[in-house]
Amino acid sequence: VSFDLVIRGGELVDPAARRRGRYDLGIRDGRIAAVERELGAEGTGHAVDAEGLLVVPGLVDLHAHVYDGSTYWGIDAAAYAPHCGTTTWVDAGSAGAYTLRGLRTIAAGAEPVRIKAFVNLSSIGLAGPTWELATPGYLDEDACLEAIESAPELAVGVKARIDCNTVGAQGVAPLRAALRVAEQAGMRLMLHIGQGPPELGEVIELLRPGDVLTHCATPGSMRLVGDDGALRPGVREAVARGVVLDVGHGGGSFSFRVAEALLAAGLPPHSISSDAHQISVRRSMFDLPTCLSKYLALGLGLDEVIAAATAAPAALIGEEGRLGTLAVGAVADVCLLAQESGSFPLVDVTGDQRRTDLRLRAVRTFAAGLELLHGPLPPPEPWALRD
Ligand SMILES: [Zn+2]
Repeated sequence: VSFDLVIRGGELVDPAARRRGRYDLGIRDGRIAAVERELGAEGTGHAVDAEGLLVVPGLVDLHAHVYDGSTYWGIDAAAYAPHCGTTTWVDAGSAGAYTLRGLRTIAAGAEPVRIKAFVNLSSIGLAGPTWELATPGYLDEDACLEAIESAPELAVGVKARIDCNTVGAQGVAPLRAALRVAEQAGMRLMLHIGQGPPELGEVIELLRPGDVLTHCATPGSMRLVGDDGALRPGVREAVARGVVLDVGHGGGSFSFRVAEALLAAGLPPHSISSDAHQISVRRSMFDLPTCLSKYLALGLGLDEVIAAATAAPAALIGEEGRLGTLAVGAVADVCLLAQESGSFPLVDVTGDQRRTDLRLRAVRTFAAGLELLHGPLPPPEPWALRD
């Protein structure tokens, strides 16, 4: 047997395959070709020493903004991928019907890094910072559905940001419209919550099984827990009927107190995503491994946080078994994570801090068997420094 690449001696964490321990990975033609306790030295094109590192599936970030160059929030997916360990970026509504073709071009250019997309109900997507659902003329359900159907390789669902700024005077009407499009497309809706109105009770009851509620630990008025830490009405019922809780940390959407209350209530996030964008990558979010470190600090296990950034989001975008796992036959997306020990502060978007003695950091990242090289990160957009 010969391999193009062998990753040797690391501690494998592959929750989808229920495999954990010291394994060698053999990679051939961009796929995982062998997972063995020890692979022989013969026939190996190139060997990578992963001794002392965690070997996990390439991270799948369910909520990010990678429509670089044409939107307020977008960052360069390929440039950030090796810094974050992310091999699949799911763009959360940066593109709408009028702008989706540009994101398809970006996705083609980012390969082997993968881009998928929730398509915004608003035809202009996130060209600007907000207000995208406040103008009735941009709420074109037919155009959104046509755009989704035009991009089967890219589109995984519909996105609607529902908060006091995004919808203006439209209230929950854009959410109902987005749900109609998702229903017709046979796809999930990703709902963003934040500062109301509308308030949580008006939106959460509309979500269907399989729909994703992102910013589940937001400190905004639509937050999932009350000031006493108890779940707000409708939250447990929503999760029980199959609504998916996603983190989407971002620049304003992660509170330790809310995250802790959800964990105490027995509701860990299904998926841990970054909401990486122009501003959050320079604030308390930084990158997806830092988000995972926060949930480790809150008491989730290593297998749980890795699953929440690999197998779980891969399943949510219909890539179960192909992405988010290191099983034989899967795409060879691999991330080598360092477990740094020390005493590190972790900060949420309110300035609240927790300390941790273990921090995860992406060291080397491979997409379809090709190593993604660390380059300098692009400079921020001017407004990212002002905001
Ligand atoms: Zn976002």
